[in-house]
Amino acid sequence: MMDTDIEQLRQRGFRMTPQRLAILRVLHQAGCHLSPLEICHQVQEILPGMTEATVYRTLSFLTEQGLLLAAHIGGGQLVYEITGHDHHHLICRRCGSSQQIEHTLLRTLYQQFQESTGYQIDGMHVTFFGLCPECQKNNK
Ligand SMILES: [Zn+2]
Ligand SMILES: [Zn+2]
Repeated sequence: MMDTDIEQLRQRGFRMTPQRLAILRVLHQAGCHLSPLEICHQVQEILPGMTEATVYRTLSFLTEQGLLLAAHIGGGQLVYEITGHDHHHLICRRCGSSQQIEHTLLRTLYQQFQESTGYQIDGMHVTFFGLCPECQKNNK
């Protein structure tokens, strides 16, 4: 997985720096979304000198290069994860619990959007908000 990342950067004329590698390693190991602050803490265990500013800059670089996915999870908060299977998220606006939705479920919808608007949609990582089953129960 990391080898393909290195290759992907190299083909675009970028080097895999220790900073980039440290962030990718942290997110590979986590296997889920992390906030920039969580990434900061874990990266600093690998590279103690890495500043918060560098972490933020490296996160946006890796996202631009398609190696990371960013998702808005509400409240202006962004989280990051490794690019893998196409998926989306459902987030409960009350308790914050979340669930993944496979992209295959939305493929037809995407096609319809694209045909009717002529747009090519590249947001393969969308967050939907709602109330989870638990919170709906407690609502009554
Ligand atoms: Zn995601
Ligand atoms: Zn909930």
